[in-house]
Amino acid sequence: MIRVAINGYGTVGKRVADAVAAQPDMEIVGVSKTRPSIEDYIAKARGFPLYIADPAKRSSFEKLGLPVAGTVQEMFGRADVVVDATPGGVGEENKPLYEKAGVKAIFQGGEEHGVAGFSFCSDCNYRMALGRQFVRVVSCNTTGLCRIINTLDREYGTSKVRAVMVRRASDPGEVKKGPVDAVVLDPVTVPSHHGPDVQTVLAHIPITTMAMIVPTTFMHMHAVQIELKKDPKKERILELIEKHPRLGLVRGGLGIRSTAELKEYALDLGRPRGDLWESCIFADSVAVQGREVSFFQAIHQEADIVVENVDAIRAMMGSVKDPDESIRMTNEALRFTAI
Ligand code: NAD
Repeated sequence: MIRVAINGYGTVGKRVADAVAAQPDMEIVGVSKTRPSIEDYIAKARGFPLYIADPAKRSSFEKLGLPVAGTVQEMFGRADVVVDATPGGVGEENKPLYEKAGVKAIFQGGEEHGVAGFSFCSDCNYRMALGRQFVRVVSCNTTGLCRIINTLDREYGTSKVRAVMVRRASDPGEVKKGPVDAVVLDPVTVPSHHGPDVQTVLAHIPITTMAMIVPTTFMHMHAVQIELKKDPKKERILELIEKHPRLGLVRGGLGIRSTAELKEYALDLGRPRGDLWESCIFADSVAVQGREVSFFQAIHQEADIVVENVDAIRAMMGSVKDPDESIRMTNEALRFTAI
C-alpha cells in the first residue's frame, strides 16, 4: 500500500483524500489542518488521523472533540507521498519541509511550475513523472485544456489553439469572495496565464488564452478553437472524445445547455459531492470548418484535478508504469465512467 498524507484538508484536499482512500493500492495516513473547521469532523468520521500545522493550537481542536494525532512533520514521517493541497503559495513555503523529511510531494495548480519543476497531466506526460520527488498537478482549467488538446494533437497535430475561459467566481463554500454582480476580466491583458500553463505540460502547442470571471460557483466554461495540421472529421472527433476515459460528451438529446443543468445531472448520477471528474464537452457545439474545430467544454473546478492527483501518486512511486492502467485503476475504484 502506498501511504499518502494530505497537507491542507480543504476543497481539493478532502476530495483527494476520499479518492485515495477508495484505491486498492493506497491508504491515507493522515490529513492536516491549521485551525478547526467542519471538515475536521468529516475527517474524523472517515477515520483519517488529524495532524496540525501549529502545535500551539492543539487544545483548540481537542476541546471540540477532535483528537490530534501529531504535528505535520510527524505526518510526513509516516507517508510515502504528501499531497500538498494548501492555498496557492503555501506549497512553496512547505517545500523545504518535504525536502527535510525526504518525502515525495505533489503540489497543486496554485503553485508556480518552478516549485516542482515538473507539471503533470495524466494522459499527457505520466511516464515523465515516474520516480520523481516533486510534481505539480496543473490547475483545473489547464487540466481541461490539456486533456482535449493532447487528444486531438495526437491524432491530427496542432497549428494553433485559441481558448476563452469563463471562470466561476468562487467555490460554493467561499462566502467572502466575489464578484456578486460583474464580469471581471482576468486579467485585462492577453494572454491569461492558462496558455503558458498548458505549455508547461505540452510545450509544443501554440496557444493563446483569454479569461473572465462571472458570478457563479459551479464550473468554468471554455470556448475553444483548435486549428489542426490535417483535415479532421467531426464523427472521428466525437469518437475520440467518447473513447477517452476522462472526456465526457454532453449529448444533444439530454437537453443540457448550462452548468446548472450539468450540476443537477451530476447529483442525479449520485456522484460524491456532485463532482464531475471528466471534462464535459457539448456534442452539439463540436463544429469543423476546414482544419479548425470549435467547441464548448465545462470544467468542474473542484473535481477534474482529483483523479489526476491519484495518478500522479502512482507515477511518482513507480508502482504502475503505464498511464492507461493507472487511469483505469483510478476511475474503476471511484466507479467513474465519463458521461
Ligand atoms: P482551500 O482554501 O479550500 O483549502 C486549503 C486548506 O489548507 C485549508 O483547509 C487550510 O486551512 C489549509 N492550510 C492552510 N495553510 C496550511 C498549512 N501551512 N499547513 C496545512 N494546512 C494548511 O484551498 P483549495 O481550493 O483546496 O486549493 C488548494 C490548492 O489547489 C491551491 O493551490 C489551488 O490553487 C488548487 N486548486 C484549487 C481548485 C479549486 O477549485 N478550489 C481547483 C484546482 C486547483
